[in-house]
Amino acid sequence: MVTYNQSPLDHNHGSVTHTSCSHGHAHQCLDITGPAVTSPDGGHVHYSESWVMYEQGHSHYYKSSSGPALPLPNGWHVHDWDFYTTINDGHCHRVSGPDMPAPGI
Ligand SMILES: [Zn+2]
Ligand SMILES: [Zn+2]
Repeated sequence: MVTYNQSPLDHNHGSVTHTSCSHGHAHQCLDITGPAVTSPDGGHVHYSESWVMYEQGHSHYYKSSSGPALPLPNGWHVHDWDFYTTINDGHCHRVSGPDMPAPGI
């Protein structure tokens, strides 16, 4: 049986969230991150790039990196995200909050 002291690098995270409200609307943001990438402090982060849901006649692109792994009481972890989308149709949106948990701390 394998016990992880650290998050295994072969995992990624999903998230289902909404962007901030801008110009009177928000977009659904359904994201799946890239694999874990070791960071200089020995932990790991994830990168992600995609488009938010096409709504109100336009979409927005984003490319971002996560914060460090945040341990959960059950031995899993999440990452916080905080970034802005590209400007399309004269405005952008902010996306922030944690993603879905993955095994390991
Ligand atoms: Zn992770
Ligand atoms: Zn928009």
